[in-house]
Amino acid sequence: MKPVRAIVSVSDKTGIVDFVKKLVDLGIEIISTGGTAKLLKEAGIPVREISDLTGFPEIMEGRVKTLHPKVHGGILARRDKEDHLKAMEELGIERIDMVVVNLYPFKETVKRGASLEEIIENIDIGGPTMVRAAAKNYRDVAIVTDPKDYDLVVKELEETGKISLKTRFYLAKKAFNLTAHYDALISDFLYSIDEEGNPVAVREMRNPLTITFEKVQDLRYGENPHQRGAFYKEVFIDEPCVSSAEKLAGEKELSFNNLYDLDGAFNLVLEFDPEKEGVACAIIKHANPCGVALGKTPEEAYEKALNVDPVSAFGGIIAFNSKVNAEVAKLITQRFYECIIAPEYDEEALEILKTKKNLRVLTTNGLSGLERRGQKSPFDYRRITGGLLVQDRDLVVFDPEKVKVVTDREPTEREWEDMIFAFKVVKWVKSNSVVYAKNKVAIGIGVGQTSRIDSARCAAEKAKMMGMDLEGSVLASEAFFPFRDSVDEAAKVGVTAIIQPGGSIRDSEVIQAANEHNMAMVFTGIRHFRH
Ligand code: 5GP
Repeated sequence: MKPVRAIVSVSDKTGIVDFVKKLVDLGIEIISTGGTAKLLKEAGIPVREISDLTGFPEIMEGRVKTLHPKVHGGILARRDKEDHLKAMEELGIERIDMVVVNLYPFKETVKRGASLEEIIENIDIGGPTMVRAAAKNYRDVAIVTDPKDYDLVVKELEETGKISLKTRFYLAKKAFNLTAHYDALISDFLYSIDEEGNPVAVREMRNPLTITFEKVQDLRYGENPHQRGAFYKEVFIDEPCVSSAEKLAGEKELSFNNLYDLDGAFNLVLEFDPEKEGVACAIIKHANPCGVALGKTPEEAYEKALNVDPVSAFGGIIAFNSKVNAEVAKLITQRFYECIIAPEYDEEALEILKTKKNLRVLTTNGLSGLERRGQKSPFDYRRITGGLLVQDRDLVVFDPEKVKVVTDREPTEREWEDMIFAFKVVKWVKSNSVVYAKNKVAIGIGVGQTSRIDSARCAAEKAKMMGMDLEGSVLASEAFFPFRDSVDEAAKVGVTAIIQPGGSIRDSEVIQAANEHNMAMVFTGIRHFRH
């Protein structure tokens, strides 16, 4: 196929002048729309206006430019069908063998906070129509949507005088990928607002058919080196999170596992309000915390968190809910960590952290948990083979006022504080999970066991091994106790108060066990399974 005629209509005009110049040198006639035609003419390139081809003016401020049978007939006609060719001849339709189009910048218009009216104007209609028509007819037409492909197209034309079927098929796939994504973004955006253009509550977002992600980058590999990996993110979601965090330092790229662990770490510390509850530090390994503590300063929180399990902390991920200072930066650089994430760093801290070449330093640019009330990603996704499980995110804010004391003894003030702390931590531990806490340090963390009693035992054993004193600690469980055994076990190691959702058919047995041990126990009514 030797192209005779090309339609060129682009919003992103990167590289277009050079590209079209080469097409003209190759003997291809150029038809173009308003702004594109103007630019090309200014560069001295001979261009035919689209209205000359259609015999119809561009109307309605460009809403209707290329939506015309002379355009679409010229693109869609099958060159191997007599009746198609006959129709062309009879109706004076000229063949169009190449379409060079990229679309109105819808996403960019939304992102810069334009008015709803302007956003709607930036829904491209004629562009996608041509893109889809040309891509459908890839056996005869080349559809070029990405400036990165201009060189490839020119090279083939210069070397062979045509564009190969292989390249046309590659371009067509890419074109449908573009229009599919473009429409999905429009749909996502519309589902995030009401008819007046105001944002709708996260829980009201109900896209019926699709959810849209956009590729950020390929990753070096997936969970293991033999798996490919890539990072995709939701597009119109603004909240402080790992997906939108900026990397300030660290030579290596973030890996699949880094991103996953960073997410767990950051979500955990964002449970705590730095103003009211203090500085939170979490150290994460394989998505589970191995140390979490609150402190008055970052260095206090960090040292307490590290002290719980310095062995596991090696090679971990650290997160803070507030500004990182030089003191804690010095302590952190004494050990090996993969990444650190925090809302911000003071200058000196950043300089210190930068001395560790392999430590990736991420910031959410001042955004912390307090700004989480912005527009949030509504969904949580879990992969299964061949599918994706989708649920609302577990954004339930734990309200200590609504907690019910179920034992004879009321918790003391210190027990209350530790229980609230522990229940926020246990939410971010993989089930079955229990957390022993004392003085707002998670001194025993039981992660991912297949029974609750195992989790309680493992965490207690490990705490003892690490020299933690469990006497006077509290215990949090992310789900109810099915039997009294965990309560008996907790009493044995010195736990004096328990926080858990409640709701087991054996609740009364469990409460009785707590009363027998003179423990205080409270029910939250909220379960936090995390698989
Ligand atoms: P130009 O800058 O050449 O005036 O406009 C280029 C843009 O117009 C391209 O992004 C192309 O997708 C879009 N476009 C082409 N034909 C039509 C049409 O008929 N209607 C609308 N709304 N956009 C079009």
